Amino acid sequence: MTAPAPILIVLSALGLETARKIKAGLPQAIIHGLASRAAGADEPFDDFGATVRGKYREGHPIVALCAAGITIRALAPILGEKGAEPPVLAVADDGSAVVPLLGGTTGVNPLARTIASILGIAPAITTSGELRFGTCLLNPPPGYVLKNPEDAKTFIADMLAGKKVRIEGDAPWLADARLPVDDEGELRIRIGSDDAAPGEAELLFVTTPEAAPASPRRGRLVVVGLGPGDRDYMIPAVQQELQRAEDVLGYETYVRMAGPFRPDQRLHMTDNREEMQRARHAFELAAGGRSVVMISSGDPGIFAMAAAVIEALHESADPAWHEIELVVLPGVSAAMAAASRSGAPLGHDFCILSLSDNLKPWEIIEKRIALAAEADLAMAFYNPISKHRPWQLPRAIEILRQHRSPATPVVLGRDIGRPGEALTTIALGELTPEQVDMRTVIIVGSSLTQRFPRAAGGEWVYTPRWYGAKP
Ligand code: SAH
Repeated sequence: MTAPAPILIVLSALGLETARKIKAGLPQAIIHGLASRAAGADEPFDDFGATVRGKYREGHPIVALCAAGITIRALAPILGEKGAEPPVLAVADDGSAVVPLLGGTTGVNPLARTIASILGIAPAITTSGELRFGTCLLNPPPGYVLKNPEDAKTFIADMLAGKKVRIEGDAPWLADARLPVDDEGELRIRIGSDDAAPGEAELLFVTTPEAAPASPRRGRLVVVGLGPGDRDYMIPAVQQELQRAEDVLGYETYVRMAGPFRPDQRLHMTDNREEMQRARHAFELAAGGRSVVMISSGDPGIFAMAAAVIEALHESADPAWHEIELVVLPGVSAAMAAASRSGAPLGHDFCILSLSDNLKPWEIIEKRIALAAEADLAMAFYNPISKHRPWQLPRAIEILRQHRSPATPVVLGRDIGRPGEALTTIALGELTPEQVDMRTVIIVGSSLTQRFPRAAGGEWVYTPRWYGAKP
């Protein structure tokens, strides 16, 4: 799934407040605000109808924070068009109601549930097919794919009208679906092989390789990086794994950032700081044949879960763990994200250091900073400061100043790709710990790093590709 970002459309200041609340739990969403009434949105617009229709045609899920009727009228002229039908929802601008309007087969109800849970309300689910037959029909478990989703609407309507359905093949997940099953039914649900073609009055589910029936399923553990936050910065392979996952593990903040998830996906949100324990939990689940995704922010191999997972495997003598299909998928790390926002401060040799001395002695950190500074590397600092580590950053700055001129450009990137993102460029001589918190990545330039004003405001920062004399 390379899902287009949900668009939150607001027409009022109150709507903007509610949209921000939704976005806090759905960070990939983009807020579009009517320029005259909702200034401060991510994107301003002047023409409501044109904006809604444009985003709809581009396939973006649309969450309109206004009366349902306004949205319905805006979309009515183009509803006959062929093409994708993205989810469309109405949300009361005070956040008191969420009503799915369109997109029953493209996930409007799961999205309504996600938004409702963010707002602490109950979603107004109105699709009787779903209420009566359960969500299972359109959301088969991993290993099964509905081959003809375009026929689902008619199929469900026929069941609602009283037609019976016969099931051919093994569809264990439909046991809970309360379908009007009858061996003589004129509708048919069929479980077929990948090359089967759907027939009349039929929903065809095809099995994909991991649902191989005879032998027990081989578990998978995929360690993924979400990137800095914005969904557009998440690689498509990770987006697909999130769809495929049966179990999702990670810090609550990151699991929420990775959602929305379907009701059948199990979330194991933990604030457990013990990484090895979390890694072992993931292996236990995968060894049981489950498809497990372990989430990190940024890149999973940079101060995150991938190394702990592989270390746990290295330490284990359990053959079941070693037989699991283990995959690590990369993400855009905080340093890359912040660097790109400011230009190219890491354009030449650089290093990435964590300033946290939780897992390594402080002496080694001091030594590495000093040697990296002496080697004239640009540097990116992660975990720069926290309540429990107040003096380490001042000490690091002191060491840097012994080797670098006070004019050296420093980039502070905070919450890059997340709501409230901030990017600041200063000189090393001006850097103080108060400007930095644990959601900040610090980039310190080399002796050749340059800065200059941008026409649009702010500054460009770059480290040239050459070193020594300019070629
Ligand atoms: N695996 C992550 C890093 C985890 S360590 C990655 O590759 O990005 C956590 C530190 O990363 C934070 O203390 C902060 O220094 C940095 N960081 C992570 N996400 C960030 C973001 N969106 N903006 C700025 N810094 C971020």
